[in-house]
Amino acid sequence: MEISVVIPIFNEEANIHLLHERLVNAVTAVTNDYELIFVNDGSKDKSLPIIKELSAKFSQVKFIDFSKNFGHQIAVFAGLEHAQGNTIVIIDADLQDPPELIKDLYTKLQQGYDVVFAQREQRVGESWHKLLTAKLYYRVLNRLSEVEIPLDTGDFRIITKKVKDIIVSMPEHNKFLRGQIAWTGFNQTSILYKREERHAGNTNYPYSKMLKFAFDGITSFSNIPLRLATYLGFMVSFVAFLVIVYTLYQKYFKHDVVQGWSSLMVSILFIGGVQLICLGIIGEYLGRIMDNVKKRPLYIVKDSNCK
Ligand code: UDP
Ligand code: MG
Repeated sequence: MEISVVIPIFNEEANIHLLHERLVNAVTAVTNDYELIFVNDGSKDKSLPIIKELSAKFSQVKFIDFSKNFGHQIAVFAGLEHAQGNTIVIIDADLQDPPELIKDLYTKLQQGYDVVFAQREQRVGESWHKLLTAKLYYRVLNRLSEVEIPLDTGDFRIITKKVKDIIVSMPEHNKFLRGQIAWTGFNQTSILYKREERHAGNTNYPYSKMLKFAFDGITSFSNIPLRLATYLGFMVSFVAFLVIVYTLYQKYFKHDVVQGWSSLMVSILFIGGVQLICLGIIGEYLGRIMDNVKKRPLYIVKDSNCK
C-alpha cells in the first residue's frame, strides 16, 4: 500500500461525502493503492452511518468507531496505529485542509524527506483572537522547548512509515502530535498553502479544549514552567526578606507599628497568589504523570473494519 489517509471525525456529517469525493480524486492522482481511514471520535450526528455506507461501497474506505469521544489527537493516533501505507497523510475532515494538496505533499516527500507539513500562508475565516493566540502560543512554546515546532502548521502533513512507526511507539497519553513529529528529527520540510474556511458545521475546538491542548504541548516538551515556579519562589522570598527588614526597622527604630495593615494584607495576598500559581504548575505536571501511570488504554474501539 502506498498512501494511507487518516481522518479524525467528530460530528462532520455535512462534510464527509464531499471530503470523500475530493480525497479520492486527489489521492488517485498519485496512486491507486491507497486507504482512507475514517476515525469516528464519538460523533453524535450521522457521521458513522455515512462512513459505514462509504466503506460498504468502496474497499479503500476503512473505519474505526470509538466507544466515545476521546479527542482529536487520540483519533489521529488510532488512525496512525492502523495505517498500512508507506506514507501517511493526516488531514482534517472539515475541508479546511484542501485534499488537492496531497499530490504536492507527496511529490515533495519523494525528494528525500520524511515529513512534509503544510504551512498556512493565509487563514480564511478564523477569528483574529484565534490567530493572535495561536501565534503567541507557538512563539512561547518554541522558546520554552528544545523542539522547534514550525509556526502556522496544524496536523495536515505527510509522513513516511519510518516516522509513523516511531510516533506509534510513543505511549504518552497527552498527545501533541505536531510536536512529537518535530521531535523525531529526520528531514522535515514544508509547503505553503491557503487554509480554507470550514466547509460545514462548527469548530469542535472550543477555547476549553484549546487550552488543554496548549498545556499538553508545553508540559510534554518543557520543564521550564516547573523551574519558573522555583525562580518565582526565590524572587518572592527575596522581596519578603526586604519587607521583613523594613518592618523590624520601623518597629525598633521608629516605634511606628500601628500602621502597616495594608502592607500586611498586600504581602499575604501576594505570597498566597504566588504559592497557588506554583502549586498549579506542579499540579499540571502531576496530573499528566497520573494519566500515564494509570496505564489506561488510549482509546476503546467499538467497531472497525481495519485488520
Ligand atoms: N475532531 C475530533 N475529535 C474532537 C474534536 C475534533 O476527531 O474531539 C476532528 C474534527 O472532526 C476535525 C478535526 O478534528 O476533523 C479538527 O477539528 P476542528 O475543525 O473542529 O478544529 P479547528 O479547525 O477549528 O481547530
Ligand atoms: Mg477545522
